[in-house]
Order: sequence, then structure tokens, then C-alpha cells
Amino acid sequence: MKSFEFHSPETVPDAFALLNDVSESKLLAGGMTLLPTIKQGLAEPAALIDLGKIPQLSTIAVDGDALVIGAMVRHVTVATSEIVRSKVPMLAHLAAGIGDPAVRNRGTIGGSVANNDPSADYPAAVLALDAIVVTNRRELPAGAFFTGMFETSLETNEIITSIRFPIPSAAGYAKFKSPASRYAMVGVCVAKAGGKVCVAVTGAGPCVFRVPAMESALEARFEPGAAASIKINAAGLNSDIHADAEYRAHLVTVMAKKAVAAATQGL
Ligand SMILES: Cc1cc2nc3c(=O)[nH]c(=O)nc-3n(C[C@H](O)[C@H](O)[C@H](O)COP(=O)(O)OP(=O)(O)OC[C@H]3O[C@@H](n4cnc5c(N)ncnc54)[C@H](O)[C@@H]3O)c2cc1C
Repeated sequence: MKSFEFHSPETVPDAFALLNDVSESKLLAGGMTLLPTIKQGLAEPAALIDLGKIPQLSTIAVDGDALVIGAMVRHVTVATSEIVRSKVPMLAHLAAGIGDPAVRNRGTIGGSVANNDPSADYPAAVLALDAIVVTNRRELPAGAFFTGMFETSLETNEIITSIRFPIPSAAGYAKFKSPASRYAMVGVCVAKAGGKVCVAVTGAGPCVFRVPAMESALEARFEPGAAASIKINAAGLNSDIHADAEYRAHLVTVMAKKAVAAATQGL
């Protein structure tokens, strides 16, 4: 492995200054994706800027009608947080189902959202809840944030500081896990807020996406049967060794039905 510098700034402006000062530097969150990438020689950063010593990034708070989760909050913390469990229990349930205990103890919400793996769980919740990705420079609405496979609208050297989730009246998440990694073969998040319903799907396509036909059906009748009545076109969905596109299309409907059932039960 190529040697690299290691920095542990204690404020976001210091992290930003380091990113700009040291060319080819990378932000380090829990390292769950970044470190294997470096070990495999797929990335050779000249410096790692560790975000772990910036207290501001590890807080969870309610701010008005939103739940605000800091970028460095680990999955295990979201899964067990009393604030999350009382305000948006779906998020605690989602985080509890990520990977295994080692992944949940290191992986962070900011790293997951920045990475935008097509099978990651959080992007579905961020999109379905119409959350805001807050960075050191601006606020990015979820609908404009996830732009493609492992692609986001983050600019070079932009740092996610928190995710601002509007608190929904009901929300549920269901995923069909890959038995090996526990990533979502298909995961569906359904959220209801102010009469509007949003359905976001991860794992099925190259990037998280919404299902407008299912949203309309659920706005008319927020019941599992309404989701089950909507069939998904397999065109453009992922086909790989785990599942073909037709199977994934079928799973979207099945997981959506389960997500609505979870939402109505307050999970
Ligand atoms: C075996 C295994 C199983 C997994 N299973 C699942 C699963 O079931 N579901 C799931 O959703 N995920 C899963 N993951 C992913 C995991 O949950 C992590 O969230 C993900 O790997 C990102 O890791 P991290 O938070 O440690 O970020 P890192 O690996 O440290 O960083 C990832 C990328 O994000 C950038 N970055 C990090 N923080 C910020 C920030 N604040 N602002 C801007 N850029 C930033 C880094 O520079 C890097 O490019 C799994 C991972 C592993 C290894």
C-alpha cells in the first residue's frame, strides 16, 4: 500500500482547509468502503482527513419539524437512539438492518450517503423522507442529490455535515437482503407526510429511484394492498448473479407492501 498522510482536524473549517491544502486527499468516515478500496489499490489518496474528532458531526437532535443526524453518526447509534426511535422509528429499524455488527459499529450515515452505493439502505430513506443533505457550503434536497451509480451532486472537497429529515406522519422500510453482505437486493422506503406519499427504491436499479404510480395509489389508500396492486416494469433494472431484473421488479412490489405494513404499525 502506498504511504499517505493522516490528519485528524477538530473542526469542519479545519477539515475543509486540509482538503484544499493537500492535493488528492480524501475524507475518512468509518473507512468501511474507503479502506478496502485503498487496500485493493483502487484509490491512492495522498492524505486521509479523518472526520472522527469533530464533535459537531456526531450529534442527533430535533430541530423544529426535522430530525437532524450528524454525518459521523454511526449506524449502531441511529439504531439505538431514543430520539430516532421516538421521532422516526423507521430510521432506527433501517440502521439496525445494515450489514453486521462490525459494519454498524464503524459505518456512518454521511459516508453511506456520500458513497451512494446502488444497494445502500440510507439513500432510500433520504429520498422518501425528502431529506436535506447539509454540507459545509449549502443544503442539497434529496431529489437533486443522488445523480447516478456511486454519483452524487457533491462537489470536490464538499463535506456533508448532517442530514435533515422532515419528521413524517408514517414511514416504513423493508428490504430483501443479499444473504452474503446484507446489502439490499431490493429495499423500499415508504413515507407519508401531509397527505403526500413518497416511495423510494434502492438495490433494484443503478441508483435510488421513486415510483410515482405507487405513490398515487398510496395517496388514495394508504394500505399494503394499494402498493401490492402496482407492478413494476423490469426495463432498466439491475440483473446480476444475485437476481435478474424481473425478479427485482417483483421484489419492489413485495417490499413496498411490507414497508406500508411497517409504516402503519409505526415501525
Ligand atoms: C461487509 C459490508 C456490508 C455492508 N452492508 C451494508 C448494508 O447492508 N446496507 C448499507 O446501506 N450499507 C452497507 N455497507 C456499507 C456501510 O454501511 C457504510 O456506510 C459504507 O461502507 C460507508 O462507510 P463509512 O461510513 O465508513 O465511510 P468511508 O468508507 O469512510 O467513506 C466512504 C466515502 O464517503 C466519503 N465521505 C465520508 N464521509 C463524508 C462526508 N461527511 N462528506 C463527504 N464525503 C464523505 C469518503 O471520502 C469516501 O469516498 C456494508 C459495508 C460492508 C463493508
